[in-house]
Amino acid sequence: MVYAVDKPSQVPLVVLSGGGGGARLAAALSKCTAQRPVIVVTNIGDDFEHLGLLICPDTDSVLYATSGKLDRDRGWGREGESWQVLDAIQGMAGPSWFQLGDKDLALHLLRAEQLRKGCDLAGVTQVLSERLDVPEGMTVIPATEQSVRTRVVTEEGELAFQEYFVGRRCEPALRDVVYEGIGDASPSPSLLAALDACVDRPIDVVLGPSNPFLSLGPILGIPGMLSELRGRARRVVAVSPIIGGRALKGPAAKIMTELGLPASAPGWTQWLAKRYPGFVDTWVWDDADRGLVATLPDSYDVRVTATVMSEPGIGEGLADWLLEVCSVAP
Ligand code: GDP
Ligand code: CA
Repeated sequence: MVYAVDKPSQVPLVVLSGGGGGARLAAALSKCTAQRPVIVVTNIGDDFEHLGLLICPDTDSVLYATSGKLDRDRGWGREGESWQVLDAIQGMAGPSWFQLGDKDLALHLLRAEQLRKGCDLAGVTQVLSERLDVPEGMTVIPATEQSVRTRVVTEEGELAFQEYFVGRRCEPALRDVVYEGIGDASPSPSLLAALDACVDRPIDVVLGPSNPFLSLGPILGIPGMLSELRGRARRVVAVSPIIGGRALKGPAAKIMTELGLPASAPGWTQWLAKRYPGFVDTWVWDDADRGLVATLPDSYDVRVTATVMSEPGIGEGLADWLLEVCSVAP
């Protein structure tokens, strides 16, 4: 099937996302889908089984964010949440370390039901998108159908992602990250089908401001993912999650320091450029880091704009700005 839209401005924007900064960017872009359809490719490395249910934290954050149902104060889970089931589980000495709200649990139950009926992960995500009223033109696709599980090698030994992230609150110093199962994974067939639909014109790819080790790594490390994206992309843009030497939330800056990298926008840029040679065309830094642009060689196309999306209007401004940048070939 050939993508049936004539205007080049309607070629999809493909956004790679974790559950934090990337999900916020996806939410801002979900208001621009009349201008340009968006495909959000979500991190599967955080997925895990809990109470017999498959939980997909980053995919779910993107679903909640793009459907306007994310709890903005917490930055995860659904707004207007209640915790009766969790309280009852705790009261019965069940596992309560992972906070599952009642409404959130409803989504996990529906996912389990669809999976039991034989639906694949992309199909389930599509069903959940529809039921949550994710805007038309916004397609959320988990990066792969295979199981990829992030594990962190720390100074205290190896931990499963949720043990590290929730159980230990990212405290143990990180030495390495491994993505269990990634060697046998392949890009989601639904993603490839969506990309094939635009075979006659190049897409643009945006790496959301997500943790490069814990959110983008499990997506970009899937065999074939880099070449499928780069081979079809007109422009690949990466938005920095490091602002003024810090992460707005989560361990990205801490991990950079632990791995011996400079925790800064230039440090992030040079690490990504070395890890994925020739993949990114354009680097987007926050205004706060404008003064550091001159520290990188001119060969890096660095652009600077406001990116702190917790501030009113900034997400919408960043979404428009990215669409403008991506409307021109590099
Ligand atoms: P996780 O799945 O919750 O770990 O989230 P992500 O990997 O998607 O995002 C975590 C990163 O998002 C952190 O390093 C934050 O600094 C970054 N981040 C969160 N909100 C924003 C924002 O509004 N702007 C930018 N530039 N980065 C953000
Ligand atoms: Ca995550």
